[in-house]
Parts: sequence; structure tokens; C-alpha cells
Amino acid sequence: MKPEVINLAATDRAELSRLALAASPAECCGLLVGHHTEAAVQITAIHKSENLAADKLSGFEVDFRIRLRLEEELVSGPDQIIGIYHSHPNGSPKPSGKDLADAAEPGLVWLILAVDGVGAVDLSAWLMCREADGEKSFSALPVVIK
Ligand SMILES: [Zn+2]
Repeated sequence: MKPEVINLAATDRAELSRLALAASPAECCGLLVGHHTEAAVQITAIHKSENLAADKLSGFEVDFRIRLRLEEELVSGPDQIIGIYHSHPNGSPKPSGKDLADAAEPGLVWLILAVDGVGAVDLSAWLMCREADGEKSFSALPVVIK
């Protein structure tokens, strides 16, 4: 079932803002751990990664070792890696063309932290989808802060 919203703790929301501002003007990135409920994605933890991209100002690359370690830790469930986050120091709240080109896992949540000129961080979530014809897209997912 396709989730309708994403639930994020206020403390995690604050931590993500802090990480995005600390990394700016470079992008920050990391993984989101959680599980699916009836109609929502519940985020239970965020795991910061070093940004391994060659050009950190306009791209990001999550350290795959973090992913491997998490997968090992989470093998007995119920939580799993359900998303990825990164920041847009240029303030754009939407996935970039590069994000879409890099997206490879349908169902994965993409959380984007848009940093504006005065240090506020807007947050948006997207679900990566792949159509039958192979076309990729992101559909917006409302974020509920709890
Ligand atoms: Zn991006």
C-alpha cells in the first residue's frame, strides 16, 4: 500500500535542520530508518553519513558502509532503511534532475532539506516511483511532525 504521509519526530526534524545548516554550503546526507504503518511511513531514527560526493556543493553520496552496517543491525526488524535525506543549500525544495537520475529504488522516501538565505530549513518528502514503462518520478508525501 502506498503511504499517505510521513511521520517525523520533532527532535529528528530539529536534528536534520541542524545538520543541513552545519554542512551548508555543502550538501549533507544520510539514511532514514523506520517502518510502514497502515497509511504512513514512520521514521524512528536518522543516521548521518559523510557526504562522499566529489563535488559536495552540488551533489551527495551516502557512505555505503553505513548502509551495510545498518542493514546488518536491522536484520531482525521491524525497522528497516526506508529513506534517504540530503540538503539543498541553494534553497530548492524539490528533487533536482540529478536526484531523479540517481534515484534507483522504488518505494524509497527522499527527504529534502532546503536551506534558505536566512538560515531556515524547509523540509519536503518524496516517494520514488517507477512506472510500468520504466519512467521514474517523485510524488510528494506530506510530512507530519510529532
Ligand atoms: Zn538533491
